[in-house]
Parts: sequence; structure tokens; C-alpha cells
Amino acid sequence: MTGSLVEAVIDLGALDANIAHLRRAVAPAELMVVVKADAYGHGRVRVAQQAIESGIRAIGALDLDTALELRAAGIGDEVAVLSWLYPPGQDFADAIAAHVDLGVSSIPELTAITDAARELSGTAGFVPPRLHLKLDTGLHRNGATTDDWPALVAGAVEAERAGLVRTFAAWTHIAEASEDEDTIALERFLDGVSVARDLGATIDVRHLAASSAGLRREDVRLDLVRMGGHCWGIPSFDGVTPAEIGLTPVMTLRAQVLAVRETGDDRAEAYVSAGYGDGVPRNVAGSCAVAVRGVQHPIVRVERDHLVIAVAPGAELGQGDAAVLFGAGAEGEQTVRQWGDLSGTLGDEITTRIAARVPRRYLEA
Ligand SMILES: *Cc1c(COP(=O)(O)O)cnc(C)c1O
Repeated sequence: MTGSLVEAVIDLGALDANIAHLRRAVAPAELMVVVKADAYGHGRVRVAQQAIESGIRAIGALDLDTALELRAAGIGDEVAVLSWLYPPGQDFADAIAAHVDLGVSSIPELTAITDAARELSGTAGFVPPRLHLKLDTGLHRNGATTDDWPALVAGAVEAERAGLVRTFAAWTHIAEASEDEDTIALERFLDGVSVARDLGATIDVRHLAASSAGLRREDVRLDLVRMGGHCWGIPSFDGVTPAEIGLTPVMTLRAQVLAVRETGDDRAEAYVSAGYGDGVPRNVAGSCAVAVRGVQHPIVRVERDHLVIAVAPGAELGQGDAAVLFGAGAEGEQTVRQWGDLSGTLGDEITTRIAARVPRRYLEA
């Protein structure tokens, strides 16, 4: 402990090892590391920088602000940075100037991109933006419907011939909830790629899978797999520990024992310096535990700035002891995946909601 009441320790060595493992697992497909939602609470810039150190050449940003922030942080053109979700009326000039790869789901988005590209096309250093044309294969999140797909592709091909864009990739998002649905989505997607190529699109890269299907199914990997959860060591399918699929949790949430209080009957409670104001979900009370001195103590209550644990029978603990809420398990603590399972949510949600006020401390790889 460095004296902080609560801190999220981010083990960049674990991130490096997870990325190396996942790259080997999906090869020859490429691994894109998705750093949306502040890399699920792990810190988007540091995580992206470490991913690049670890050999990654594709980063998924989701929104343009994140993509531009990564470019401004010095992530150069040798790394593809993909954005795909925009508010209506998005202006694409900055994104094109920063060489951000652009997901495109609709004709209005394509029009906004080509309009911005036309404006910039006379200027020095203009490079036509690489488009990732998105097909909806059943998830209905975004992407062109099968009916709208030919018109979207044809519009992109026409803009490519005018020197305004590149038809670089085709992609979709699959549910990863049922094997059969994913198989149908894969078939629809491959049909869509054929249609696009027949219409004159280049399509160097095809991608559809994320952590879950990408690790389990070779047939869905195609040219690239987009992963968030597994990079941070949070399994995204049921019934496995991180270690069983070769991963190490990257975030450890640490706090301190503030006070120990006897409650009669030889029992004691202890106050730990992390609460819901730090993003600890209230419903971990009654379901999850905090480790102190290598022993798990059940959480009985979560308040705004602290939580209360029932001291395990026979355990010794004292004020100032380090308390580990979740982590890799090295100090007897539960993993964030266990916290998610026990409290009825996802490990992803728990790390993502750790409050901005909680300092992130990075352990160098
Ligand atoms: C969030 C996201 C991912 C990563 O999902 P994980 O299940 O965390 O690996 C991949 N692709 C897209 C389009 C996403 O929005």
C-alpha cells in the first residue's frame, strides 16, 4: 500500500502475458485490443501503450474522442485505431486528418465521411480514410441490414474511385451467446463479404468475433479478432477460471482496514476503506468477500466511503492491514470474475464502474 485509501493496481506485466497468450491463440488472425469504456476501467491510454509494446497493431476505440486521444498521446500510423459509434451529425474531419479507421454502418455516415474527405482531399498529407463497412448479421446493434448493404458498399466503392476513401474491411458483431446463432451470423457475414467484393470493394480484412467466440471457435476468427475482456484476464464464458484459459486478472482493487470492532459473541467486524463512491457495487454485500492477511472475510455492508466485513472466525486482523477486494488471487482474494458471478453481474461491469476518483497505479511490465 502506498497510503491511498483505495487504489486500482494495474499489472501491465499480466496484460502483456495475456496479450501474448491471446495472440498465439488466435493466430494467424490478428488481435485488436478494444479499449472502449476507459479499457473497462483499466485506463485506455496506458493499456493501449502497453498493448503496442506487446506487439499489437490494431486498437478498437469505439468513439472518436477516444481514438483522437490515443493519436494525441503519440500512437502513430503504424497502429490502426478504429472508431465505429458516432452521435448523429458527427464531423469526420479531425478523424480523417488523424488517420483513424472508420466503421461505417449507414449511408448518412458514409455521406458525412465522404463530405469531410472531399473538403480535405486538396490539402497536403491527405490520406483517404480506411473504411470498415459494417453489416448487421442479427444482433441489431448497428451495421447495415442485408437489404441496405449493397447500396452502402456501392456508395463506398464510388467514393473510393473518386479517391476519397478506401474500402479496407468488412465486419459485424456477433452475439456470442449461442453457437447456432453465431454460425448463422458467420454465414450471413461471409455472404455479405462476397457481395461487397462483387461490387468492387477491396476488403483486405474481415472481422466479427470478440473475446468469447474468438477464443473458443477457430472458424469465426477470420482475419482479426477484437478483444476487451480477455485482455484484462476476465473470462467471458461460463465455468472457467482465468488460469484455466491461460489468463491473469490485470486489475487488483486494494484498500485498508480502517478499524476493527468487537460485536459480541466473540465476533468482530472491520471497516475497509472502499465504498460505493469508489464503484464497489452495493450488492457484493452478502455475496462476495475481501481478503486480509490471506483470509477471505464476507462483506456484510457497503456504504459510500467504506464497507464492512465480518471478521472470519479465528482470524486476526488489525487497523492498517492491506485489504484486497479482488485481484489475481495471489493474496487469497477472489477474482473480479468471481465477484461478478457471485453478485449477479459481469466482471467487466465491476472493473468498468470503478470510480474515476480511485487512483490507478501501474506496475510496469
Ligand atoms: C466491446 C466490443 C468488443 C470487445 O468485447 P469483449 O467481449 O470484451 O472482448 C469487440 N467488438 C466490439 C464491436 C465491441 O463493441
